[in-house]
Amino acid sequence: MALSFTGKPNPRVGEILVARLSTLPAQRSTGLTLKQRRFTSTLEITQKQTAPAAPSLPPLSALPTRVLLRSLLVSTISSKAWLLYPSLWVMSILSKPNRGFLLNVDRNPILHGILKKTFYEQFCAGENAAETKATIKELKDMGFRGVIMTYAKETVFDHRTNTQHGLGVAALEAEKNGEQVDPRLVHCANIEAWRKGTLETVEQLEDGDYLAVKLTGAGPTVTEAFSKGDLPPTQMINAMDEVCRRCKERNVRILVDAESQHFQWGILRLTLDLMRKYNRDGYAVVYNTYQAYLKSTSNTLAKHLAAAQQDGFTLGLKLVRGAYMASDERALIHDTKTDTDNAYNTIAQGALKRTIGDFGTTTPFPSVNLFLASHNRESVMAAHNLHKQRTQASLPTIPVGFAQLHGMSDEVSFSLLALKGSDGTPEVYKCSTWGGMGECLAYLLRRAIENRDAVLRTSDEYNALKAEFKRRLKGGFSFATQK
Ligand SMILES: Cc1cc2nc3c(=O)[nH]c(=O)nc-3n(C[C@H](O)[C@H](O)[C@H](O)COP(=O)(O)OP(=O)(O)OC[C@H]3O[C@@H](n4cnc5c(N)ncnc54)[C@H](O)[C@@H]3O)c2cc1C
Repeated sequence: MALSFTGKPNPRVGEILVARLSTLPAQRSTGLTLKQRRFTSTLEITQKQTAPAAPSLPPLSALPTRVLLRSLLVSTISSKAWLLYPSLWVMSILSKPNRGFLLNVDRNPILHGILKKTFYEQFCAGENAAETKATIKELKDMGFRGVIMTYAKETVFDHRTNTQHGLGVAALEAEKNGEQVDPRLVHCANIEAWRKGTLETVEQLEDGDYLAVKLTGAGPTVTEAFSKGDLPPTQMINAMDEVCRRCKERNVRILVDAESQHFQWGILRLTLDLMRKYNRDGYAVVYNTYQAYLKSTSNTLAKHLAAAQQDGFTLGLKLVRGAYMASDERALIHDTKTDTDNAYNTIAQGALKRTIGDFGTTTPFPSVNLFLASHNRESVMAAHNLHKQRTQASLPTIPVGFAQLHGMSDEVSFSLLALKGSDGTPEVYKCSTWGGMGECLAYLLRRAIENRDAVLRTSDEYNALKAEFKRRLKGGFSFATQK
């Protein structure tokens, strides 16, 4: 079963592919199938006849100039400690609930405008359906196979202070106005607001796109249940059922995000039930997210592979390293970055070889669809190469998609896109978030912290963006994509 999606190709991707292949003779002669070689040589012949001196375009040449300039600004801030630390401090203050007018990003128009044109537009899709649709179109025009879209509302649990923030709008509004509200109605209102926001997101997506859901966005009754490892209230289970049915009708798949450890056992439990119910047609409609940085993940995955094998459903395996190092209990996380990297690569490569632990050797390997969400060039390139080799050698493997976050690691995304073969792989997606500015702040703060922690990658990104900017400057912006 192959994942097959539609997405408008970017004419520049072919151009970049030719330029890259012409500088990679070894790969051209050994790494491609006959079909791909024919495709490549047709492109080369066409190119020889029409454009004798093809410029070797770098991956970032596909970025519109407006996006390049914004990325350069954000990456300059992220790569300089003296700019990043004050920005982080300001954002963490702004993301606290119940701020007065001056520090309220939704009410203070100047603050709203500054954040919107910088961090918000860099990482988020839009504050309403029209803005979000325009961003999705722009991403697809750049050559991405599709988008992963999420509605921003969520709850983050801080293990150090034992507090959670980001609770539902209705509860906060009521609290702010000093109103006495029946807690059951507030709870219902939170789940209902989450259901509506999520279904609204589904309607913005097109055939083959992905919906990402943060289940804690549904508010206190849901997070209370998750923190005990329980299933959420029936109202939430019904809401998820409705979302799954609508996604299936529209050929949209669902990635259930992994969140703070405090909530994760409940999230895993609900998602496993949904996979059992909806992943029955030979492919995954619903994916669980597995955080490779957790020491417990290999055991969890083994249990879920066993469930998929026994109950005959497809396991949707979205693999990430894990984004909650700042708030999760440190002892639960691998001791070193190298251990996390090894865990990530072992699962990714094992899944692509259809061999994880006993599965694929003494126990049959179940149906699995893989989704690799990562900015780590080594991990994604190694996985793509392995998938390509195995497909070409007709060895058993599984369908795989790749994704990077909107506004991050464009170099990795466009490098993957430039390798796209005639079979449409690798399938590359950009993952974005939509929602009001206030709702998106926790997400924005996490992106900023991630940039702070990934010092090497951030400075590589900054250097690549600077080089692309200089290249366009030299050419009087004549190579630049036209926006
Ligand atoms: C499309 C997409 C969807 C995502 N969805 C989720 C999600 O649902 N849930 C979620 O939690 N995250 C999610 N993330 C974020 C992800 O978990 C990582 O935080 C982020 O992608 C950085 O990891 P990386 O694989 O890109 O590689 P790198 O930048 O190479 O790795 C950085 C990561 O390594 C780990 N790490 C760093 N230092 C140490 C250390 N000292 N010891 C142990 N481990 C360490 C951390 O996980 C850190 O985030 C998503 C990312 C993407 C691209």
